Amino acid sequence: MLNLVLAAAGREHASRITRITLAVGREAGVVPDCVQHYFDQLKAGTPAENATLEFRAVPLVLRCPHCNREFSELADICACNAGAEVISGRELIVESIELADTPRSTRQA
Ligand SMILES: [Zn+2]
Repeated sequence: MLNLVLAAAGREHASRITRITLAVGREAGVVPDCVQHYFDQLKAGTPAENATLEFRAVPLVLRCPHCNREFSELADICACNAGAEVISGRELIVESIELADTPRSTRQA
């Protein structure tokens, strides 16, 4: 994850990352506290050293592949009994990175 962020910063020739926003799906199996801890251990000496880590929770969205109805709980699965596609809620995405010392200060990752 941090490598991804640093690669993006490198592309922008930024010397400093000020803020990193992560989109974390409700069912991503990611505990923000753990990511924060991991990040704190890895960031020393990198351009992300002073960056703030922010988490944006992404709700679970499921869809019936038969009738395309969307729902948010497996318990709400539709009567079509066609199963459920996961539309969102399992992702861990670097959503945006805010950089210092670059003309474009915010980039969508
Ligand atoms: Zn259905």
